[in-house]
Amino acid sequence: MPDHVFGRSTRGVPPVAVRGEGCYLFDAAGKRYLDGSGGAAVSCLGHSDPDVRAALHRQLDRLAFAHTGFFTSEPAEALADALVAAAPEGMERVYLVSGGSEAVEAAIKLARQYFLEIGQPQRHRVVARRQSYHGNTLGALAAGGNAWRRAQFAPLLVETSHIVRCYAYREQAAGESLADYGRRAADALEEELLRLGPDTVMAFIAEPVVGATAGAVPAVPGYLPRIREICDRYGVLLILDEVMCGMGRTGRMFACKEDGVAPDLLTVAKGLGAGYQPIGALLATGRVYEAIASGSGFFQHGHTYMGHPMAAAAALAVVTAIQERDLLAQVRRRGARLDARLREVLGDHPHVGDIRGRGLFRGIELVRDRATKEPFDPALGIHRRIKAAAFAAGLICYPMGGTIDGRSGDHVLLAPPYIIDDGQIDDLVAMLAAAIEATCPAA
Ligand code: PMP
Repeated sequence: MPDHVFGRSTRGVPPVAVRGEGCYLFDAAGKRYLDGSGGAAVSCLGHSDPDVRAALHRQLDRLAFAHTGFFTSEPAEALADALVAAAPEGMERVYLVSGGSEAVEAAIKLARQYFLEIGQPQRHRVVARRQSYHGNTLGALAAGGNAWRRAQFAPLLVETSHIVRCYAYREQAAGESLADYGRRAADALEEELLRLGPDTVMAFIAEPVVGATAGAVPAVPGYLPRIREICDRYGVLLILDEVMCGMGRTGRMFACKEDGVAPDLLTVAKGLGAGYQPIGALLATGRVYEAIASGSGFFQHGHTYMGHPMAAAAALAVVTAIQERDLLAQVRRRGARLDARLREVLGDHPHVGDIRGRGLFRGIELVRDRATKEPFDPALGIHRRIKAAAFAAGLICYPMGGTIDGRSGDHVLLAPPYIIDDGQIDDLVAMLAAAIEATCPAA
């Protein structure tokens, strides 16, 4: 086997994936893996979906590519229609790119251009949250709060400031109601705007359910509505990053619908292409779009492969499948079962501090001491060891170290395909429990 692919890690060559079917992946040695995290919350329809494959074949036979400098295309238009129809109120335009970082990058640039168009050139700052991930390109990386990812690129990053996370398990004070906590966490945005000078800030960006950096932590009720209010009070655009939690993952097509909040800009990716094609989308309100359409008439951005017909055809088939197969209701039902099984099997484990999430987007936080919530020493690499033990046993899950602020535990993120059945949920939980037990035993 040649070894010239420059992968994510330069340590060793991983197994070669050769086939996918339903909730399983197979490697070249014939080993089967249950895809408990859809890679990284990507494969929402599972692998080898017949409808998506058929849509891709049809599109390939008709038109593979037409540059968006000259054309739009049927699948891109149909996809944009479908996204707008399902989107939160006010979202009227869709900008199609090739992934999550590109969608966030476009959101930041669109926010900046919007304020130039409406005559507020002093607005250039972004506010984000310390425990967040928004992508790996320079703008998206600047927005993210993950200190170790940012550190070596810091001199290249655009100016962003970071406020506290919304993380009830660790931040809700004793005796404080959830509503009071949510308000306190959101009010940190107002304090930061006042500190920076509110009319210098163009956007606040957040994930409605925090994914990679925290393990499926939903905003507490009332938090996002309060954030919306503060953004409106100071004329700041609200960008919600649903690259991971969007496209049905939480049991709603867009997670923010559950919070009753509509952003100005909204990003999706992962579940949009479901792994069949690389695609992301930025949704914008009519107000933002009109400022540019009636101003310079041109969003000064673009990538060669944006609006790619093959990617749009795959995503359209994914959205259609979610809607026509009633998968949102299924995600809510199976998500409740996954949550119940996790609580049954792991709820009393002395190193399981928290089990949380929405729909088929669940997180388990591991701690050294459940009573004090003290995390494990990061040097132990608990999350890496759980990932390795699970993978050896044939389970793909997505563990991360919660070392963003030195005050979080290790966590495991679960985001299985929406088609996972009850037996597979039981297998997933059993394999995960065994990997946790092998890494940090109860006794
Ligand atoms: N935003 C969020 C919330 C994400 O979870 C991710 C990917 N983990 C990104 C942006 C970046 O997406 P991509 O890896 O497709 O560039």
